[in-house]
Amino acid sequence: METSSSTVGELNSGSRRKTRQLQKRQKKQYIDEDPLCLNFDRPCSHNSKKLCCLKVSANEVARNRKHLFKNKTYVSQNVYLSRLILPYEPQRRRPRNVLHSTAKPKTLSVTYFLINGKKKIRVQVCQKNFMAALNIGRKRLSTLTKTLFSGNIPKENRGGNRKKIAYAAKRRSVIDFIGKFPAQESQYNRMKSKRVFCPVN
Ligand SMILES: [Zn+2]
Repeated sequence: METSSSTVGELNSGSRRKTRQLQKRQKKQYIDEDPLCLNFDRPCSHNSKKLCCLKVSANEVARNRKHLFKNKTYVSQNVYLSRLILPYEPQRRRPRNVLHSTAKPKTLSVTYFLINGKKKIRVQVCQKNFMAALNIGRKRLSTLTKTLFSGNIPKENRGGNRKKIAYAAKRRSVIDFIGKFPAQESQYNRMKSKRVFCPVN
């Protein structure tokens, strides 16, 4: 029997697997589902010097939304939102009973604004109203607030094949290991096959 001195690594000419077209990640559309604000339900009735939620009429809410959703992507919307969000460190720390309290001390306070009126004045609103008016979820808002507070600008951090990067070294070492097996090419097929075999003995 012919003895082979080749290895799988030398004879291997690539994967036989059909290269599958990677499915494009379904892009979420960041569009306004309710541009006329028909589903807008004011969650509060703040009307004070500080919080002016009631001053922003439903028409003004619709206008705020229009401005936000002129930006079509997640990042550009966040950039727009960053003008309406002002995170700051709370100045006054109320004494807490550290022994009996399990709550973490608050490290971040946020002021929210909506644009109001023809002069486009920023008026302060509460968080609930801000979220309802602009149809922003709590998680998105929290991420954005933390980004802004740390002095960064909104950018795309999502996506990517994290597992492939994490296991790249392992994958490489397994491929190298298999590559060292002795191998011979198929004797049966006249067509050049990419398949290689380990000898019987
Ligand atoms: Zn309010």
